[in-house]
Parts: sequence; C-alpha cells; structure tokens
Amino acid sequence: MTAVDQKDLDAFKQDAQAWFEENTPRDVDFMLPLTFMEVGTDPQFNFLRDWQNKVYEAGYLGAHWPKEYGGGGLAREFQDAATRIMSAERTPIMLNAIGLNWTGPLLLDRGSDDEKQKYIKGILSAENIWCQGFSEPDHGSDLGNAQTKAVRDGDSYVINGSKIWTTQGNYADYMILLARTNPDAETKYKGLSFFLSPMKGAGIETVPIRKLTGEYGFTQTFFQDARIPASCLMGEEGEGWLIAMQTLEYERGARSGQAGGHVMMMANPTDIVALAQAAQINGKPAIEDPAIREELVLLMSEARSLGLNSRRDKIAPLAQDRPMSLALGSKLASTDFYQRLNAFAIALQGTRGAYYVDDPQAHDNGIWQRGYLNSFSATIGGGTSQIQRNIIGEHVLGLPKG
Ligand SMILES: Cc1cc2nc3c(=O)[nH]c(=O)nc-3n(C[C@H](O)[C@H](O)[C@H](O)COP(=O)(O)OP(=O)(O)OC[C@H]3O[C@@H](n4cnc5c(N)ncnc54)[C@H](O)[C@@H]3O)c2cc1C
Repeated sequence: MTAVDQKDLDAFKQDAQAWFEENTPRDVDFMLPLTFMEVGTDPQFNFLRDWQNKVYEAGYLGAHWPKEYGGGGLAREFQDAATRIMSAERTPIMLNAIGLNWTGPLLLDRGSDDEKQKYIKGILSAENIWCQGFSEPDHGSDLGNAQTKAVRDGDSYVINGSKIWTTQGNYADYMILLARTNPDAETKYKGLSFFLSPMKGAGIETVPIRKLTGEYGFTQTFFQDARIPASCLMGEEGEGWLIAMQTLEYERGARSGQAGGHVMMMANPTDIVALAQAAQINGKPAIEDPAIREELVLLMSEARSLGLNSRRDKIAPLAQDRPMSLALGSKLASTDFYQRLNAFAIALQGTRGAYYVDDPQAHDNGIWQRGYLNSFSATIGGGTSQIQRNIIGEHVLGLPKG
C-alpha cells in the first residue's frame, strides 16, 4: 500500500468533521433504530436510505472502494477516519448494512467484473438494499444442512424453501442466498451454491417477524417455484459453502474490506456515569455508593480495553499469526459486555428500571431498556456466542472437535 500523505488525511478529517457537524440530523420526530436489525417502518427506512445516500454523495462512505465501481478510490485510512467521526458524532446508522459490510467486500474480492459493475454503486448509494438468506427454520447454527432447493431449468434456477430471520427482508432488492443445488453431493457442504438473487419477483414472499423490543426488523422469506436467472449463481455450483464462509468472516469482523460507516448505535459507556449521578439509591445519588463506583470503574476499564483491542487487528504484526483470533474474540467479548452494561444501567434505576420506551417515568426515554433487549441480537446474529466459542476453540486455539 502506498504511504498516505498526512496533510491530505488531516485535510480530509477536517472537512469530514465540519460536514458531519453541519449535516447530522439532530431532531428526528420518530424513533430511530439503534441497529440495522430494527428497521421496521417506512419512515425509518426512507429516512435512513436518504441519510446513507447523502453520506455517500459527500464522499464519506466507500471512500476506499475502487473508483471504477463507484467508490472514492482513496486509501483505507480516509474511510476509517470518516467512520470514527460518524461514531463520535453519533450520526444515524447506515441502512444497507448487509450490502456495505458483507456483500460488497465479497463482490470486490471474488465477484466478476460484471457483478461489480452491476451491484457496487447501488450498495453504496442505498439504491439497492441487500438481505442475507442463510438461516432456515431448522438450520441456523447448523447452516451446512440448509435445505432450500435451487434446481437448474434452462436459463433459470427454480427456488423452493424458506429462509428465516431475514434482516430487512421486506425492503430488500437482492438477497445473498445459500441454496442446495445437489442433494446427492459427496458431502452436505458440496451440495450448496451461492446466489445473488433478486427479491422482487413471483414466488417470493416475506412475512415480518416482531422482535422482543416490539420492533419489526426481520422476516421469514418463502420461495415457491421462484424463478431467478441462472446468471445469479456466484462462482460455480458447489462453491456455496466456501463463499458463505467468506461472507461470515466479513460478518464476524474477521476479514476487512467493509465500506465503512457504523451500523449499530451502541450505548456510550460513559453515559452510564451520568445515569449514576441522576439515579437515586436509598435517597442518595447512586454514584455516591462505593460498590456502584467500583462497578463503574470496572465497566469503563473494560470498555476502554475492548476499544483498544478492536484496533489491534489493524496492526499487521499482531494479526498475522492467527488472523481471525482478535476479531472473533472482540465479537464475543463486546456483545457480552454491552449486555452487562445495559443490565447494570437498568439495575441502577431501581424500580424505574421497569419502565420502557415512551413511558414518561422511564429514564432517558428507556434507551437502556431498549438497548438491553436489543443486545441479545448481537449475541445470536452472525453465529451465536456458543458457536463463536467453538470456532475460537477449534480454529484459533487448536482444541479437538467436540
Ligand atoms: C437480530 C437477528 C438478525 C438476524 N439476521 C439474519 C439474517 O439477516 N440472515 C440470516 O440468514 N440469519 C439471520 N439471523 C439468524 C442467526 O444467524 C441465527 O439465529 C443463528 O445463527 C442461530 O441459529 P438458530 O436461531 O437456528 O439457533 P440454533 O442453531 O437452533 O441454536 C439454539 C441454541 O443452541 C446453541 N447451539 C447450537 N449448536 C451448537 C453447537 N454446535 N455447540 C454449542 N451450542 C450450540 C446455540 O448457541 C443456541 O443457543 C439473525 C438473528 C438475529 C437474532
């Protein structure tokens, strides 16, 4: 990689900071999703689509993706800087998370030139929304057994089966679809193929599913004799498992190449200090209790070390030996941390902890309660914490299977 001109980078950062300060919407008169997994209403969807498009047009999304396909053609440091500013300014999330974070990098790495020309720009501009069709009602962790069928018929594949937990399934234009093309293959993995499938067409139906938080973020997706062009096959028949595993590496943060921007608005750990000042325990501000202070210090230290750890995998000599270990460890530890942070914040509120969003009695309009319920998503999506532990045990630590 060519060295980045520090002056250029500093000027870029200055411009980006000024742009986000000026353009970040502050007073939105409806509830914005905390993560890309809770986009459930048309106003939320339209607002976030416009916002992503505006950030892209300003040059702060996909700044490091190749210019010929719609990116900015800059070095990765530029996009990293813009992403850090977005997080610090707590801007609204990027909508097209599955396009930006896993489909896009996958296409740039192994897609054909036609596929890159066709899809990359629409991913960045949010013109084309992507969803992921991996999990099935009986096959989530056990993804290798996926049973949705894709049967070749002339210039088409005919798809039958059902996918579930399809984030933004009802809004998506395209799906990265894992389907079985050969039920008699030598192994279950070799029978799978990977498709860049259109979502709008005869025989494809989505039914929204309600989350614990009351929001609608995903769907069950049904395919009934749905015909998709044979050109939607990515790679060769039988390569589906290989491509799906690469996709999951992007999803779990074990591979880089994502377009940038943040797709989850996590609680800011330091906000809990303000909460401890406002909440009362035994008639006194909670922050005056020594046991609470000790817990706060532990949480702050953990937040800091998680933040630093997630930056370690960008330092090549630290990541070389076991490229996936830092990122996989970060997913496991940070998703667990945010669950404990939100749980502690609710406990600090005493009986008021029982009030939820939109209740006038709720602290901070129930943001901690909503954050707590949402925090379970991240310990399940992209592979559950138990599955992450299996992967770390087997592939990073070299422990025996089982
Ligand atoms: C908010 C959210 C969004 C999602 N979005 C998508 C999406 O867009 N597209 C998509 O395809 N999927 C999506 N998923 C699905 C997600 O990938 C699956 O829920 C996940 O892989 C687990 O599969 P499952 O739900 O079938 O649980 P199961 O596999 O049935 O697991 C049930 C329990 O058993 C444990 N378990 C299973 N196997 C093992 C094992 N071998 N060792 C130890 N423990 C085990 C699991 O950890 C879990 O606790 C989403 C999930 C959530 C929560």
